Amino acid sequence: MVTIAERLNSAYQRLQEAAEKSPYRHPVRLLAVSKTKPITLIQHAYDCGQRCFGESYVQEAIEKVQYFANTPDLEWHFIGPIQSNKSRPIAEHFHWVHSVDREKIAKRLNEQRPKGMPPLQVLIQVNISLDPAKSGCLPTQIENLAQLIVHCDQLTLRGLMTITELTEDKAKQLNYFQQMRQCFDTLRAQYPNVDTLSMGMSGDLEQAVAAGSTMVRIGTDIFGQRQ
Ligand SMILES: *Cc1c(COP(=O)(O)O)cnc(C)c1O
Repeated sequence: MVTIAERLNSAYQRLQEAAEKSPYRHPVRLLAVSKTKPITLIQHAYDCGQRCFGESYVQEAIEKVQYFANTPDLEWHFIGPIQSNKSRPIAEHFHWVHSVDREKIAKRLNEQRPKGMPPLQVLIQVNISLDPAKSGCLPTQIENLAQLIVHCDQLTLRGLMTITELTEDKAKQLNYFQQMRQCFDTLRAQYPNVDTLSMGMSGDLEQAVAAGSTMVRIGTDIFGQRQ
C-alpha cells in the first residue's frame, strides 16, 4: 500500500521538478486538498510535516477545523464556492479564503470575521477560461473587487486564484495560466502586499508552475481519488 507519506513526498518532488524548469524563481507552496477525506488522513499528512490544508464543503470543513482546534500551527484554506448564507462559519474558522468572487461575499466575510482574530487572508477567484460551469469573477472585475477588499479592515488581499476549464490540451492550460499571471502582475503593481497566485491542481501542476503559480492545490495526488 502506498502511504500518505510516500504520496506527499512524490507530490513535493513533482512540484520541485516543475519549479526547477520554471522561469519563475520564487518558492511555490503546496496546499494539501483534503475535502471528502477523513480526519485520519489529515493527521497522517500533519505527522509528515504538512501544515496547510484546503477544504471545499463548509460543514465537513468546520468539523475538521474544530477537531484540530488545539493544533495551532495548522493553516486552513477555504477553496470551494461560497453561498452567502454559509459565509459566517467560513469567516469564523478559516485562515485563508481562495474563492471570493463578488462584492457581497467580500462584505459579508468582512462583517462576520470576529474582531479578535487576525484578518482573513483573501484571494479573488477568477474565471479565466470564462467557463459557465465555474465560479469566479471576470478578469475585468478584479480591479473593483480588489479595491473593495483592501478597504475591509478584517480582510487582507493576498492575490488571485483560478481553476481552469477541464481540458487535456496542455498548451491551452498554459495559456490560461499565463493570462492569470498577467492579471496577478497588474494587481501586484497596484497593491505591493499581494504575493499569492493560487493555481495548479493534480492534473495541471506543471503548466501552472511554468506560468508563475506561487501556490498549488493538490488533492488526488496526495489523498487518492475522491468518490
Ligand atoms: C478539489 C480541488 C482541488 C484539488 O484537485 P485535485 O485534482 O484532486 O488535485 C484544487 N482546487 C480546488 C478549488 C478544488 O476544489
